[in-house]
Amino acid sequence: MIVPKVWYSDEGDTINIDLGKGFLPPHYSISLEERVNEIADILYYTEKPTEIFRVSVWFDGKDIFDYFPEERGPTERRVLEVNPQARSRSKRDIGESKVLVAAGHGIYYNSKYKDWRAQRDRTNGIVEDFITPAFARLLQDYLRGRSNSTVHRARSTDISAHPDSAQPWSLMAARYHIKNVLPEHAEIWNSAGSAGATSTGEREQDIRSRPLYANHLGVDALIHLHTNAASASRRGVEVFHQPNSSDSKRLGDLALCYMRESLRTNSAYADFPVALVSSPKNHGENRLAEMPSIIAEMGFHTNPKDAVAIQSYVFQDLAMRGLEKAYRMFKEGNGCETFSATYSEVTVVSDSTRDAEIVFGGFPRFPVKYTSTVAECPSGILCVSLGGRFATAETPRTITHSCSSSQPMTMKWNVTFTDADGVKAEALSTVHCQPKA
Ligand SMILES: [Zn+2]
Repeated sequence: MIVPKVWYSDEGDTINIDLGKGFLPPHYSISLEERVNEIADILYYTEKPTEIFRVSVWFDGKDIFDYFPEERGPTERRVLEVNPQARSRSKRDIGESKVLVAAGHGIYYNSKYKDWRAQRDRTNGIVEDFITPAFARLLQDYLRGRSNSTVHRARSTDISAHPDSAQPWSLMAARYHIKNVLPEHAEIWNSAGSAGATSTGEREQDIRSRPLYANHLGVDALIHLHTNAASASRRGVEVFHQPNSSDSKRLGDLALCYMRESLRTNSAYADFPVALVSSPKNHGENRLAEMPSIIAEMGFHTNPKDAVAIQSYVFQDLAMRGLEKAYRMFKEGNGCETFSATYSEVTVVSDSTRDAEIVFGGFPRFPVKYTSTVAECPSGILCVSLGGRFATAETPRTITHSCSSSQPMTMKWNVTFTDADGVKAEALSTVHCQPKA
C-alpha cells in the first residue's frame, strides 16, 4: 500500500504529491501516465477553492522522467516563426503552415478481449471516439479557409471498411491509418516506447503514433481534439500542454481565449464554462511532439449538459471556429484580445457634416456591421439611428454625422458592432450639434 506525502509550495500555488518510487512499474506506459494524471486531477479538483494552479507529482523526490529518461520526449521544440507582417489584413499575408489535427481515440484491437473496440465507453449517448472526428472536420475546414494551412489528419476520413476489423476506416484509431499510409514506418505506428513491444497494446501505440506522425510530417503545430471524463458534475472546455513547453502553453491559452469568445456569440453557450488558462500536464500525445502541441477537451461527455452541447453542430462549429482563430493569432504573434470599439466624440455645425472615427481593438472578421439605438435625445428633436457596414479592415474608418438645430444640443447612441463571426463590441457615440455662427 502506498501512503503519499502531500504538501504545498511556499507560494501556495502548487500542490505537491510524492507517491514514492514503489508506485512505479518497471516500464513506462501510457496507462501509467493516465493513472498519475488521474491522481493529480482528483487532488486539483478537491483543492480547487484555494488558489492552486498545478499539481506536481513526485516519486521519492524525483520527477517521473528521472526514472524513465528515454521517455522525456524532445527537449527542444520547434518554435513557429511569427510573421510580423501577418498582423495586418489580408489572408495572403499569413504565412503558410502545416497542422496535424488529431481526433481523439478510435477503434483498436484489444488483445485481452481479442476484439475490436472503442477506447472510451458510451456515456450520455456519446462515444468519444466517434464524436471527435466531427470536431476535426470543422477545424480542418476553418484552418484551410482562414489560416492558410495545409491540414493533415491523424485518423482516416474514409468510410470504406478497414479489412481486419470490418469497421469503417473513419472510426479506426490513428495507428491503423498511419500504418496504412506509412507501412514502412513501423517506428511511428508500432511504437511501444521503453516498455518494449510485449507489454503495451495497440491503444498505447495509437496515442504515441500521433505525435510521432506529426514529427514525421514536420508540421508546425499539433492539435488533439478530445472530450473529457470525470465525475458527473464537472463541466467545461479545458486545454492541456506539456509542462515546460512555453509555445504550447501560449497556443493553449489562446485556444481557450478564442473558443470562449466564439461560444459567447451564441446565447445558448454564453455561459458555457471555459477554463481561463491551459493546464500543464504530462500526456504522451503532447510530450513526444517536436512542435507546439495541445490537447483541447471540448467539454465533459460525463456531464449531461456538456454532452448535449458536444453533440450539437452549432457548438462544434463555434468551438472550432474559435480554435482556428487561436491558431491564427498564435501564428501572427497576437495575444488574447477581444473585439472592442471606440467611437470618437464629434461636434457638428448645424446643416453640415462631420466624420466620427471608429477604432477597433482585437481581431474582428470583416465585414463588420453596426446598428445603433438612441441613448440620449433632447425633447422635440428627431435623433435618427444609424446602421451600416465596414466591408474591409481599411482605416481610417468613419461614420458621417449631420444635424440641424438653432440651439446647441447633444445626442447619444449606443452602437453595436458585429463582426462576420457574430462577435460583438459596444461603443457610445456622442454628437454635439452647434448652431451656425
Ligand atoms: Zn479522450
